[in-house]
Amino acid sequence: MSSVGGDGLPSVHVKVLFVTPECYPLVKTGGLADVAGALPLALAPLGVESRVLLPAYPGVRAKLEGVARVAALPGLFGGAGELVEGTTADGLRVLLLDAPHLFHREQGGPYLGPDGTDWPDNHLRFGALSWVGAQISMGRVGGWQPDLVHLHDWQAALTAAYLHFDKESADAPASLLTIHNLAFQGLFPATTRKALKLPAEVLHVDGMEYWDQLSFLKAGVQWCDHLSTVSPTYAREILTPEEGMGFDGLLRARAHELTGIVNGIDLDVWDPETDPHLAAPYSSRRLAAKSKNTAALQRELGLDVRADVPLFGLVSRLTEQKGLDVLLDALPRLVATGAQLAVLGTGAAFLEDGFRAAAAAHPGQIATVIGFDEALSHRIQAGAHTVLVPSRFEPCGLTQLYGLRYGSLPVVSRVGGLADTVIDANTAALRSGVATGVQFSPVQPDPLAVAIERTVEWFADRPAWQRAQRRAMASDVGWGTAAEQDRSLYAKVVEHRLG
Ligand code: ADP
Repeated sequence: MSSVGGDGLPSVHVKVLFVTPECYPLVKTGGLADVAGALPLALAPLGVESRVLLPAYPGVRAKLEGVARVAALPGLFGGAGELVEGTTADGLRVLLLDAPHLFHREQGGPYLGPDGTDWPDNHLRFGALSWVGAQISMGRVGGWQPDLVHLHDWQAALTAAYLHFDKESADAPASLLTIHNLAFQGLFPATTRKALKLPAEVLHVDGMEYWDQLSFLKAGVQWCDHLSTVSPTYAREILTPEEGMGFDGLLRARAHELTGIVNGIDLDVWDPETDPHLAAPYSSRRLAAKSKNTAALQRELGLDVRADVPLFGLVSRLTEQKGLDVLLDALPRLVATGAQLAVLGTGAAFLEDGFRAAAAAHPGQIATVIGFDEALSHRIQAGAHTVLVPSRFEPCGLTQLYGLRYGSLPVVSRVGGLADTVIDANTAALRSGVATGVQFSPVQPDPLAVAIERTVEWFADRPAWQRAQRRAMASDVGWGTAAEQDRSLYAKVVEHRLG
């Protein structure tokens, strides 16, 4: 790092290695990919030089330009691999861990095999990613050493253990773990320790032992210099026994080293004026054109083409975390209002079946598409009047941010990042003209149904609704603020490390 100042000067130069299991547009299963793809680019003008390390899943290498081999990695957890470097079309500098025995699998996804269960060797796959992250961090491969290594979720968190137990650990860079979702803790049998080249000390309550297992996430929580998560509210929630998922005690012990920073979204990818997926471009000045997207979406999904009722959109992993069983229970009340619902998602069989059945029972009013479809997700954000996010917990959430940007007012549970980004249309907020959506609590069918009914009522007052749409579209949802906060945090953590 050439210099550090807490004054926001762009001359400050910090080198950061991101270690992540996914990165948009190379590979994506959820919001973490968006963060890993966008944050480094947003940090560049602030003087942060980033490289992103991730596995070379099938097809990823071909998406990079100027691919060159950086280092051979023989003896990498049961096979040979190599580290290659390349650049995305956006200029993101990427380091790929290309290890065919761990990552070249034609079927299945980054974490799950074709049968929908975890790959049995996930400990080795993400142990290898973390180990290579540690070697780069120590300046041993790649010829480039970061000032700070920024680890994302359990799949990268073991890097902290390798650095902690490294014989030259005094020379390790500063480290930061971002917890995108505390529900995923990277738990593996204690017997995997040897294959992971970890010393016996890790199997201790003050190490990474977790109820007789090894937790990769715990390694990051124990040994990173600083921790962050993706909203201030979630940072507070995870300190409580109710939301701490067994980690609350550990996290409380480090509460003064835990920072909440709300994610941004890529304003170029998510721009209703230029979005190539839309039937018609629109903006807050040309809001009327949004209705063309509504009609196109209704036609595409077989919904009745109507402009007089609100169309609720939902783009989500179909899991209980997302409160979608609660939405299924509240559906009769949504249907009774006459509103429409468009669902895009994939996940738990009972939820897929539930939404399929709802669509079959209410043709023209409810449409369900099971699958992962980036283009359709854009068309739903544009065509829906409002987006539903009824999560039981939500570290940050991205779809409500897209909803704000697209003038599709979010209806959200009052948790985590949802609480931090949407301003509820209560009387005071409506009178002072600041409301951008609807919040409800607790996550139960009745409060959700009431929120849906409030939204339908609000939608009927078109001038008030349109004012809120324009406000929502002007919300600060880009990466600018988050990048500045992250840059300041990097500077603080590096300074602290240097003592
Ligand atoms: P999480 O990371 O918990 O899944 P987020 O709201 O943070 O939730 O991010 C989800 C991301 O994945 C968003 O970019 C959303 O648009 C996208 N997404 C989720 N499900 C689908 C789907 N079925 N098709 C397309 N995109 C999806």
